[in-house]
Amino acid sequence: MTVASSSSKIIYVDNAATTRLDDDALALMFDLQRNFFANPSSAYKLSRPLKKILRESREKIAACINAEPQEIIFTSGGTESDNWAIKSVVLANFSERPNIITSAVEHKAILNSCAAMENLGCAVTKLPVDKFGAVNPNDLQKRILPQTKIISVMLANNEVGTIQPIKSLVETVHTAEKIFHTDAVQAVGHIPIDVKTLGIDMLSASAHKFNGPKGVGFLYVRDGLKILPYIDGGAQEFSRRAGTENVPAIAAMALALEKNCQDINQTAEKLSAYAKILLDCLQSNGVDFTLNGGKNRLPGHLSLSFKDCDGESLMHRLDLKNIFVSTGSACNSQQTKISHVLQALKVPQDYIRGTIRITFGKENSCDDAKTIGNHLVKILQPCQNQ
Ligand code: PLP
Repeated sequence: MTVASSSSKIIYVDNAATTRLDDDALALMFDLQRNFFANPSSAYKLSRPLKKILRESREKIAACINAEPQEIIFTSGGTESDNWAIKSVVLANFSERPNIITSAVEHKAILNSCAAMENLGCAVTKLPVDKFGAVNPNDLQKRILPQTKIISVMLANNEVGTIQPIKSLVETVHTAEKIFHTDAVQAVGHIPIDVKTLGIDMLSASAHKFNGPKGVGFLYVRDGLKILPYIDGGAQEFSRRAGTENVPAIAAMALALEKNCQDINQTAEKLSAYAKILLDCLQSNGVDFTLNGGKNRLPGHLSLSFKDCDGESLMHRLDLKNIFVSTGSACNSQQTKISHVLQALKVPQDYIRGTIRITFGKENSCDDAKTIGNHLVKILQPCQNQ
């Protein structure tokens, strides 16, 4: 995205951290906020349009991932959906001190939900990953115990973009008659997802990662799977998640997801082309770097580790040029310690500190990719040729 501001243009390539709200979604939110203020749970006719909007939003979202409308439960975002999935299964089986299996490269929303359950006395098993960040289904199979109740492996990684072999993982989990949850926050709206074909039991998503508003998301819960409510109160969301629904945000989320899914393959092709332009530019100029995450990655998602460099200063040097990238995941950007994901991938020591994440979005252009490449070459050549 190149945005004209009052003084200069910016190139925003941190779309894994968040995306810009879609214009139509914003207009819809504004209209609903202003003109449809009634509580959707009220019985009078003023509430009818709001009930309809909620129903249609659920239908739209369900269609995007091949789910049924009643399998979509609105939440406040990815973090809440992840907390809910893990904690509800554990708490429902608490007397058995359940074991949770997850992977070493999950987002903190999963890792810290597991840690909270560990503090209460449950056991947590973290699956290793290969050098690309992928979990091996055989490793999972070996670690499933009788007391394992839930396996949670993300669909696509937020730092390196690796897409996990979800179908094989689900098959392994279901053979052992356990529950499979996936944190699909980075994947929904970016790669086609069919929950029925994949056989997923629960899936977390967040609107602000697919050009929807912040503070809203959903949890997909397969029909027939009983989960405890995470927020107790009124009867909203089929009595599974209490609290008056944020109808404008939910409607905007549904519209943004529907729009992204309509062009999902064309957008993916475009973003992959931008990534290639940037990689070609770095390679043809002899820059010494590794690309983390292997081939099966989210489109336009680049985690690059530059030899003998400091990722944080690279990020600041690009910031001075109005190019916005991240040093790792947004949740880690306050900390200088090396990310658990890069460590799990065993990125070589002389590269690991020089990591930045560039995630193209649908509003970027080929020119953005060329501009970033040229700036990186200018910044990196003097320090790498010392
Ligand atoms: N899971 C993953 C993989 C993420 O990338 C993020 C956000 O960065 C989250 C969960 C948390 O989502 P939210 O910001 O909606 O709470």
